[in-house]
Amino acid sequence: YSHYIDVGRLEMICGPMFSGKSEELIRRLKRTILAGMPTIIFTPKIDNRYLENHICSHDGKQLEAVPISHIEEVLEHVTDETKVIGIDEVQFLDGEIVSVIMKLVNEGKRVICAGLDKDFKAESFGQMPELLALADDVTKLTAICMKCGRPANFTQRLIGGQPASYNDPLILIGASESYEARCRLCYKIDK
Ligand code: ADP
Ligand code: ZN
Repeated sequence: YSHYIDVGRLEMICGPMFSGKSEELIRRLKRTILAGMPTIIFTPKIDNRYLENHICSHDGKQLEAVPISHIEEVLEHVTDETKVIGIDEVQFLDGEIVSVIMKLVNEGKRVICAGLDKDFKAESFGQMPELLALADDVTKLTAICMKCGRPANFTQRLIGGQPASYNDPLILIGASESYEARCRLCYKIDK
């Protein structure tokens, strides 16, 4: 046991909106930073919920992050010294997410990703299923259902306060759109 070497590792944090994915990611990354491990954090550029160069949880906790749109940009920032890589909202990134992340893991890095496992249609999100399968550790979080208080695994999309339909366009101009955490009983979608 004397020659401890860095073994790469992929940790996934998933669940619906408001389940505390960013909070959990921030908690883990604060610890690696405190331990003095070279850590770098990325956030998709399209997530302009709050400040662009930070990752934020819905309750206001935040850490400095590099905004990117393609996963390949991670490789421009990571060096040999980097030990820990955090990625928030990983499902929103373009590019070969799985191969870039696994390359980093195979180089001995600890990669921690947070992201939605399901979209508003309750279908698996992009490359998330493969990341979840390849991960060394998966944390699946629940929120609180905003209708009944049960544990919520679903993200309800609302347009003008009403449940969105399956075929509603992803980007709606001029409509008031919002998202809510819901349980399986309270989640609704018209097909
Ligand atoms: P995520 O990254 O999963 O969207 P965040 O970490 O950004 O979640 O936010 C989690 C925080 O959101 C909770 O600690 C709580 O303060 C707040 N919150 C708002 N709505 C809900 C809800 N329906 N269930 C649980 N937490 C909620
Ligand atoms: Zn419910």
